[in-house]
Amino acid sequence: MNTRLNGIGMTSQRTRLRMIERLREQGIKDEAVLAAMFDAPRHLFIDEALASRAYDDVSLPINFNQTISQPYIVARMIEILRNGKPLGRVLEIGTGCGYQAAVLAQVAREVYTVERIQPLYERARRQLRDLKLRNVSVRYADGSAGLPEAAPFDGIIMAAAAPMLSAALREQLATGGRMVLPVGTQEQWLYVVERDANGFRETKLEPVKFVPLLMGKA
Ligand code: SAH
Repeated sequence: MNTRLNGIGMTSQRTRLRMIERLREQGIKDEAVLAAMFDAPRHLFIDEALASRAYDDVSLPINFNQTISQPYIVARMIEILRNGKPLGRVLEIGTGCGYQAAVLAQVAREVYTVERIQPLYERARRQLRDLKLRNVSVRYADGSAGLPEAAPFDGIIMAAAAPMLSAALREQLATGGRMVLPVGTQEQWLYVVERDANGFRETKLEPVKFVPLLMGKA
């Protein structure tokens, strides 16, 4: 079931189209991802004072020392997660403002997203509810060990960097599932972990820059 947002909000179609053209130039090819990025009203997830820059290819502050990821990295990670196929149940660790969850909601049947900072969790939950994205479940929890009660997942995506690949997390992947995540401290790399009947395969992709994954609730 795809929930299409149909361009809710005030930002012009042209601004969004420009973002999609730029994503294509940057190498994003998955049409389902591009359509979801076109439909998700990114400007509604950030402070009004920054809304004019919402569709620029930058990360922007969302308070509590956190950021909304730049459009390219959101598109890239979801493209890798999808691997050209429809997604069933997906876990996102690090809801932040909820933007990536809104994009995921359009390409996955079910999205679970976990945030450790309470005010961010509350705001994201409200925003996603206002957008009537009913296939997203927002949780206030430390997601560093995943969300065992909702596992297994067809996809897991992490929006904060862990110092190393977690074995507990990959166990929550379904067979045929994929996990996309940044790993490292000073130097971070994007990884994809795939699970098949024989086990796990890890591939190191490209250098990235994310906020750190932190422990406990705040
Ligand atoms: N996907 C977000 C990006 C958020 S930035 C978006 O679209 O805006 C990363 C988020 O991960 C931050 O909000 C941070 O608080 C959260 N985070 C960090 N460690 C976490 C943990 N252990 N569990 C859950 N969330 C965590």
